[in-house]
Amino acid sequence: MLFGTYILRPDRVFDGETMHEGWVVRVKDDKIEAAGPASSVSAAGAEVVDLKGTTLTPGLIEGHSHLLLHPYNETPWDDQVLKEARSLRVARATVHAQKTLLAGFTTVRDLGTEGADYDDVGLKQAINKGIIPGPRMVVVTRALIATGSYAPKGFSPDIDVPQGAEEADGHDALIQAVRRQIGKGADAIKIYADYRWGLMAEAKPTYTIDEIKLIVEVAKSSGRAVVAHAGTAEGMRRAILGGCETIEHGDTGTPEIFALMKQHGTALCPTLAAGDAVSQYRGWKKGQEPEPERIKQKRVTFKQALDAGVTICAGGDVGVFSHGDNARELVMMVDYGMKPIDVLRSATSVNADVFHLADRGRVRPGLLADLVAVEGDPSKTIADLYRVRAVLKGGVFYKR
Ligand SMILES: [Zn+2]
Repeated sequence: MLFGTYILRPDRVFDGETMHEGWVVRVKDDKIEAAGPASSVSAAGAEVVDLKGTTLTPGLIEGHSHLLLHPYNETPWDDQVLKEARSLRVARATVHAQKTLLAGFTTVRDLGTEGADYDDVGLKQAINKGIIPGPRMVVVTRALIATGSYAPKGFSPDIDVPQGAEEADGHDALIQAVRRQIGKGADAIKIYADYRWGLMAEAKPTYTIDEIKLIVEVAKSSGRAVVAHAGTAEGMRRAILGGCETIEHGDTGTPEIFALMKQHGTALCPTLAAGDAVSQYRGWKKGQEPEPERIKQKRVTFKQALDAGVTICAGGDVGVFSHGDNARELVMMVDYGMKPIDVLRSATSVNADVFHLADRGRVRPGLLADLVAVEGDPSKTIADLYRVRAVLKGGVFYKR
């Protein structure tokens, strides 16, 4: 590793919570050693890195990625799961990992391999060993689905089609599945609390509350969190009461459900960019045509979640759209009603807190030197997050 001692000198530093004009950051080896006004931080023995014109932030944390998927307008999800070789998918994922890191996202919570078994575990190991460049990964491996509820679907009932996640239900099978995924490398467990199943076009709840409670109990006893895909109010309610820590999507939540999330401390990962991307893949000409019903509804429910004071994670479901375009979600969070500074908090300190990553997400002595410098000031213009000038992960420059 090419460790050094650096003084990073941007125009301002966002420490994960607050913006500070005129701060500098001292990095030694893989950690942040000091941060504060330039006059208060010793430059002795350090290489000064001039980052004039930039804002330095903690490395951004992607809350919802699928490094083993690529955009559905390139290849539909069904075909990725059923027709692409695992080797092809992993080869792509190595490129996705690099693009993510160079976009300033130094950590991803990768929420399911979607048919690629435990390949996220090997990908994470390859990054951690320094074999390929990429973000730090929190992985969930295969994710859990109630039998019959997931996809690919639409085939003859006479044949069994491989699914994009692991089917398991009921007491013993669920306990075994959770433990097996943990044993093979899962840092957290993901469940699908609802989905469009069978011949239904609409999403419906899948697991019972008792099943979710059991999954949470088994995962928690090993120190791992459970996260839930849920779009329906009832799926969300079961996930909240069952003890899941984050809800992914939450598209048709209600004020009552968001109040329940607030009460239980359940965070929402809204994945605005995924809905935006899928609507465009289905033919919506954004900017030229009125917003489809799905988008209008998402604006309403996202606002309801904000009004209820729900903790908002930043996670776009990247993979549905291009890896490296992760900032798309953050730009959309502002467009849908969040203040830019709150979006910056979500993508750094809030995500770190919600995902139990105490060693990152802030600019603070002793934390990992995961840092990104972007041109301009993203607390004023959120899209400045696209203008990445420098990326450090663990004190090593990946872009300079
Ligand atoms: Zn997803």
